Amino acid sequence: MSGEVDAWLADLLSRDTHRVWGAACAINDSRDRQDLATLAGHLPAIQRATADLDLGGALFPNNERLRQALATVRAARDGLCRCSLYGQFLTHDPCKEEGAGDVTVVSTSPPDWNMTYRCRCNHCGAEYEVEQGEYHLTWWKWGKEESA
Ligand SMILES: [Zn+2]
Repeated sequence: MSGEVDAWLADLLSRDTHRVWGAACAINDSRDRQDLATLAGHLPAIQRATADLDLGGALFPNNERLRQALATVRAARDGLCRCSLYGQFLTHDPCKEEGAGDVTVVSTSPPDWNMTYRCRCNHCGAEYEVEQGEYHLTWWKWGKEESA
């Protein structure tokens, strides 16, 4: 187990809302399937320790970050493509995913707050239309293209 996984696990089990939130954000950014799969072995304990935690958050509930982290861990455990997560959350920025090498932005509408991206997953080839919107925070709604 890498030191990073140890630290995440300690944070997730800490009952300290700030530490739980920090670990959740780090996990959401992780591409290390080995680390994530290792963490998956601890899912029951993590779920027990976090089930009734209220992480707060005014505009965007911080519990959503935790829900995303648990889904990211489960996807790694189940061997699912990272892109299987995109449609479930509003936090995956196509430009960040492209920067990390996970998707290719094939085309976009003219740049604006509200715009559309067409993206292809670099791992499984699935294609997505991503609607970017703005409501206090920027969000992205991923929809899988039927033709893909
Ligand atoms: Zn994919």
